Amino acid sequence: MASKPSPENSAAIVRYGHPALRKPAARVGRVNADIKQLVARMVESMRAAHGLGLAATQVGDNRRVAVIEVDGDLTVIVNPELTACRGRDIGEEGCLSFPRLYGCVERPTHVSVKARNLSGKTVTIEGEGMLARALCHEIDHLDGKLFIDVVDPTTLYWLLGHDEEGEPITQPTTLENALRAFGAARDARG
Ligand code: ZN
Repeated sequence: MASKPSPENSAAIVRYGHPALRKPAARVGRVNADIKQLVARMVESMRAAHGLGLAATQVGDNRRVAVIEVDGDLTVIVNPELTACRGRDIGEEGCLSFPRLYGCVERPTHVSVKARNLSGKTVTIEGEGMLARALCHEIDHLDGKLFIDVVDPTTLYWLLGHDEEGEPITQPTTLENALRAFGAARDARG
């Protein structure tokens, strides 16, 4: 997930159009040094991009691993599974693989997630509010699902920047035009 404002670019994070984003991630066997190294790289990329969360598929890695940082609390999830959810909340979301694009997504207000932590121990994470939203967003990524699949398309907009008072400058867009913009950017880069 992206916080606001999101930076223009982050080298290691792949954008919409990259096939890795649509490929469901594979479960991890052992939480070994290799996984710890992947997590360290992901945390670095997420922080550099001012994100709230990052899934391995977003750095082109096919392992079921994600990192989330909400209110300064880092959560590492390996092989996460959503085991329960309740409540519904409509809130704004962005994604580091869709720089500057935001829209409203309905998510549960409370979730329980079973996962392994960095010590390889199975834990249950109870998430509420923004953490619940981030957990859903990142688990979706690991299933090859993106926020554009669940966004209310009538709420999509580009964050163009901020004015002198710090107010966001936005421009409404349609899903079709937004996806075309990412496709065009990709083609231009070759
Ligand atoms: Zn995302």
